[in-house]
Amino acid sequence: MTHEQSRSLYDRALSVMPGGVNSSVRAIQPYPFFVERGDGGDVIDSDGNKYTDFVMGYGPLLLGHDLPEPVQAAVQRRASEGPMYGAPTEVEVELAEFVARHVPSVEMIRFVNSGTEATVSAVRLARGYTGRDKIVIMEGGYHGAQESTLVEGSGTNTHPSSPGIPDSFAEHTITVPFNDEEAIHEVFEAHGDEIAAVLTEPILGNYGIVHPVEGYHETLRELTEDHGALLIFDEVITGFRVGGLQCAQGKFGVTPDVTTFGKIVGGGFPVGAIGGRAEIIEEFTPAGEVFQSGTFSGHPVTMAAGLETLRYAAENDVYDHVNGLGEQLREGLTDIVADQAPNYTVVGTDSMFKIIFTRDGPGAGDTHCEAGCRQNPDCSRFESCPKNGMDVKQAETERWERLFWPAMKEQGIFLTPNQFESQFVCDAHTEADIEDALEAYKTAL
Ligand SMILES: *Cc1c(COP(=O)(O)O)cnc(C)c1O
Repeated sequence: MTHEQSRSLYDRALSVMPGGVNSSVRAIQPYPFFVERGDGGDVIDSDGNKYTDFVMGYGPLLLGHDLPEPVQAAVQRRASEGPMYGAPTEVEVELAEFVARHVPSVEMIRFVNSGTEATVSAVRLARGYTGRDKIVIMEGGYHGAQESTLVEGSGTNTHPSSPGIPDSFAEHTITVPFNDEEAIHEVFEAHGDEIAAVLTEPILGNYGIVHPVEGYHETLRELTEDHGALLIFDEVITGFRVGGLQCAQGKFGVTPDVTTFGKIVGGGFPVGAIGGRAEIIEEFTPAGEVFQSGTFSGHPVTMAAGLETLRYAAENDVYDHVNGLGEQLREGLTDIVADQAPNYTVVGTDSMFKIIFTRDGPGAGDTHCEAGCRQNPDCSRFESCPKNGMDVKQAETERWERLFWPAMKEQGIFLTPNQFESQFVCDAHTEADIEDALEAYKTAL
């Protein structure tokens, strides 16, 4: 494999873009490969190298790189009719109706342009609706590049995790470890009447993939209800991936007050959305008082891509296919790990997967969940399976990134470049792709 073109492009990029990229996670060491084009479940880089792609744009691409004919046609037609207008279009109504029909928590929805914009607006909405300032988030949760959630520290002892954010933002943010019932009870005992919302991913999807323990979301649901706070599920990554069209909230049977979306709902184009009960969502201007607006919001090309993608998924057993491949992959990885690296933990569900390089696991001979950790309390590994972000952070992150990732890339498998980000199977992948990937894991682990 040679990378001369990518190297020279990165050389140029470093002169005109900070770190040579437009999103920090892309700055793979020593330099990223530049993508020439996608092809089904693969990407081809500027030097002509082909990789099986399990990054899938970091989550938006459910169908892979070749859009099926109806999706492709709708996108082309919308683009050829003029990209956008600043006036409403029918396709926005159709996508809103589709989401409201399938997602339990959604009666009404506001479309925006990124997951970040969705979580920023959802936090403002929760504060406006409740008249309270504090929000509770999970350590190791990710809600995009927004001031109120870019915090570190624990409990009420939080501070901004990036320069450029005043301390006063973090003062209103409380963090708790995911899956820790005691911690969330304590926070509500101390601050229950000041909390506007608990904001959490239903599955931590940006910090190693951490599945909830039985009953955790039910606890969040009860506590928020009892104290007049909102429960916000950030389904930017799990939405229309975990649990199919009903999303993770349908799969877990817990209905939040507000849900944020992004990624898949735009069919590969920039998107975000905030959905929920009408009474809450109607607090957004112009129906209500909480300011929310955007030049590109509800962009017709994005709306068409999102709507046709979801329709295609509904009509073509897409979820059966990708979830089946996900299961095949996680089962295969579980066998390989048991053989070659018994400390490690296979995680993921539906079409999400990852191996966490956990240290000091229980070791050889122990049982694993069959196809990705489900936090099964009867499992002999239960105590050592990652329960929250900090557990994942303590894994062998350097080994993952410096030794394992390059070894997979050299075998033509494109994984997310660090221990934390999720990986995805898409509709264009085949059983043969999964078998090839498993062989590569055997060699690289
Ligand atoms: C990706 C992601 C975001 C941010 O979305 P952007 O479109 O990158 O701004 C927010 N929350 C979660 C859970 C995500 O996975």
